[in-house]
Amino acid sequence: VYSLSMAMERTYIMIKPDGVQRGIVGNIVSRFETKGYKLVAMKTRMATKELLEKHYADLTSKPFFPKLRDYMLSGPVVSMVWEGKEAVSTGRKMLGATNPLESAPGTIRGDFCIEVGRNICHGSDSVENANKEIALWFDESEVLDWESHSQSWLY
Ligand code: ADP
Ligand code: MG
Repeated sequence: VYSLSMAMERTYIMIKPDGVQRGIVGNIVSRFETKGYKLVAMKTRMATKELLEKHYADLTSKPFFPKLRDYMLSGPVVSMVWEGKEAVSTGRKMLGATNPLESAPGTIRGDFCIEVGRNICHGSDSVENANKEIALWFDESEVLDWESHSQSWLY
């Protein structure tokens, strides 16, 4: 029986505009699904300057921030919440290192990109930040608590 234990976490995963434009959304969703995580929220939207300044609050003073903001505003993003055991740290491993040249092959960034300024995806780096990011990008009503009933009809 599924139960939300201490180890159950939610992480905020966002496919950046280059991931959407290059048609990698399905591949990324598939990796999280087949790993065993549960999709509890997903939407496509345009980011805004205001959202990005909050989301990247620790980076606004960096020299690359204006470029990062323009990149993140260059097309729709896909915002997702994935739930499961150690979803935050495992999600980061599945994404790969920030700089794709240092991301291991087999990770999303390691498989699909070469530029740190075009690195396809975002993943929360701590449980605390995950909760903040989920609250920033989603209304509470958009994050769904659901149970799989497939065991009653799929065998
Ligand atoms: P991560 O996304 O792996 O958590 P950071 O939080 O350090 O990495 O940075 C956020 C995003 O800012 C990165 O994913 C990347 O798109 C961009 N970024 C980070 N460092 C640089 C850099 N030196 N030049 C350009 N863009 C950068
Ligand atoms: Mg980060």
